[in-house]
Amino acid sequence: MELDSLSDRILNGDRRALARGITLVESGRADHRAQATELLTRLTKEGRQALRIGLSGTPGVGKSTFIESFGMMLTGQGLRVAVLAVDPSSTRSGGSILGDKTRMERLSREKNAFIRPSPSQSHLGGVARRTREAIALCEAAGFDVVLIETVGVGQSETVVSELSDLFMLLLAPAGGDELQGVKRGIMEMADMILVNKADGDLKSAATRTCADYSGALRLLRKRPQDPEGFPKAMTVSAVEEHGLAQAWEEMQSLSKWRRENGHWEVNRATQAQYWFEQEVRSALLARLATPQARSEMERLGSQVSTGQLSPSVAAEHMLSALVAG
Ligand code: GDP
Repeated sequence: MELDSLSDRILNGDRRALARGITLVESGRADHRAQATELLTRLTKEGRQALRIGLSGTPGVGKSTFIESFGMMLTGQGLRVAVLAVDPSSTRSGGSILGDKTRMERLSREKNAFIRPSPSQSHLGGVARRTREAIALCEAAGFDVVLIETVGVGQSETVVSELSDLFMLLLAPAGGDELQGVKRGIMEMADMILVNKADGDLKSAATRTCADYSGALRLLRKRPQDPEGFPKAMTVSAVEEHGLAQAWEEMQSLSKWRRENGHWEVNRATQAQYWFEQEVRSALLARLATPQARSEMERLGSQVSTGQLSPSVAAEHMLSALVAG
């Protein structure tokens, strides 16, 4: 398809064109890369923005159930909702999260929803870049809300929080009164903690877990981007669809406050800078991995080991070779 027509169709909100655009940004081919860059340049000129909501949680806490219920509620209000995933572990058995659309059967049939599985690529840097570009395409296609899901493993929460305007941590009720080993660093990223499965037999455990986390959140250092009362913990039931409207209200009031107080723009600007630096780093690392660079490393390395070159001088040689190459 011509780039002109692809770009027009995406701007008109055509989901098939959007899917094609995402396939283009996911492609590793050099000619596709050039087209993808051209497409992104055209589309981002429009300056359309969605509310980007990151959602993290370990397998089994109810992410897909939550996204389906929450997504259905939003589309029911006339909003257009896109769902993307950042999955660094897509090689694990059972395939990638969101690889299986039947997990969100209702939402995937909804005409105002768009669900895209995680690209099957294990390198987190590559997944992050493609997700970032997929978000840009969804925004250009006029989606109001982009949900970005990740499993709580490794660095993927950092990636998702650096891609999101709001970051949600989804938890299940704890058995005892212990906090579920959620790392402090992850808690510090959260704008809201949603304790899911607050229904039936699990309701009282969920309420207790929520109170524990509310207490823990109050002990964290106050961040400038938080109004009074945030970050906060709430209980929800994705299955019974309880608490979803309240959670949405809180998300909206938080994002409204951030917009009115300048934090929204600062956050996006800081994120853009972060991704710029990440790209430079990963490009340098990629150069370091070429056969030429490896043999140069070896050559300089042996000179260092025999004392012909000092480590720092050899490193300078290596860096100059990388930049020139
Ligand atoms: P994910 O791995 O985080 O995407 O979790 P799923 O959405 O696949 O849910 C894992 C299990 O928890 C499934 O058996 C769901 O039916 C169940 N589950 C999800 N949400 C709720 C909830 O709100 N209440 C209860 N009781 N079970 C839930």
